[in-house]
Amino acid sequence: MTSINRQWLLAKRPLGHVTEECFELAESEIPELQDGQILIQNHYLAFEPAMRGWIDDAPNYLPPVQIGEVMRASAAGEIIQSRHPDYEVGDRVSGLFGWQEYTVLTPGGLQSATKVPEGLELTAPLSILGMTSVTAYFGLLDVGEPKAGETVVVTGAAGATGSVAAQIARIKGCRVIGVAGGPEKCTWLREEAKLDAVIDYKNENLMDRLGELCPDGIDVAFENVGGEQLDAILFHIANHARISLCGAISAYNDLEPEPKLRYVGHLIKRRVRMQGFIILDYLGRAQEALSDLADWASAGEIAYRVDVQEGIANVPKTFLRLFAGKNQGKQLLKLV
Ligand code: NDP
Repeated sequence: MTSINRQWLLAKRPLGHVTEECFELAESEIPELQDGQILIQNHYLAFEPAMRGWIDDAPNYLPPVQIGEVMRASAAGEIIQSRHPDYEVGDRVSGLFGWQEYTVLTPGGLQSATKVPEGLELTAPLSILGMTSVTAYFGLLDVGEPKAGETVVVTGAAGATGSVAAQIARIKGCRVIGVAGGPEKCTWLREEAKLDAVIDYKNENLMDRLGELCPDGIDVAFENVGGEQLDAILFHIANHARISLCGAISAYNDLEPEPKLRYVGHLIKRRVRMQGFIILDYLGRAQEALSDLADWASAGEIAYRVDVQEGIANVPKTFLRLFAGKNQGKQLLKLV
């Protein structure tokens, strides 16, 4: 085993669009383990749009990553040394291990190392049985409260979270319309995820198409994008609808928030509930979601894609793929 750990540190805060230059690759010596610590060799890193918010120097639901710190990120790997009674060499674990090849961890709190059950691929806790799927589950079912027969619209529908939310709505008997960018993603949503209809917002007029596809309005929206896409949903929202605000990726790189919502008044006239949520508030119930998700995945009821890039050198580049819509499904990177 090498004694050197390659790590991506936050080098500077982005001004608007995040760029590769915001991060720098550093090498450090792997320290001797203390009692209670484990050493993990990371095999896969996972990428989420929310990480963009973690590098701003602004209050968020997690503290900002500081300049010079290893970039915070979910990862999965194998324990190669242990001085902790509950962990053994060879255990496979996932957690917030950061953009680095090796992680020294004192398990506890946010720094937990969750064991990956035998028989499960190491990518599973970062993808179909990971945080984004749990987000889709509670964001759709608890916040959106869809009922069979209702019309559900999901934006960012070809992504890690959106694709699962859309298919859970389909499983629950809803009529589901997915919104995604580009013909390749839309074909996948139609043919593999088996949605009732798909709108390619890059090549079609979203406002018009929502009107055609939802003549009686949208009963539930699972919203990942914000801005103009949320505005089009507000325009076509039905009476007593629910809007589950999961994300607003179109604005994550904005230097200043831009006013883009023109139809907020419909919330009042049509008695609509629009509610944001953060998945951390549901972690105590994660097992509920994971058990249903595992059943649906093994029964072939949920189609899922993982987009695996490779190599420590490509880490920031891989993060940027999310904001260019290049990822085809859950964005991961394989280190070993
Ligand atoms: P995805 O796998 O969905 O990847 C991001 C996708 O967003 C891209 O592929 C692209 O799809 C779309 N996108 C990127 N930039 C823009 C833009 N400027 N305008 C419109 N669409 C854009 O990522 P995740 O599933 O990890 O995350 C999806 C959303 O869920 C994010 O907003 C994220 O912050 C949110 N989230 C919220 C959580 C919570 O607790 N509330 C927890 C986890 C995620 P396309 O090509 O179709 O445009």
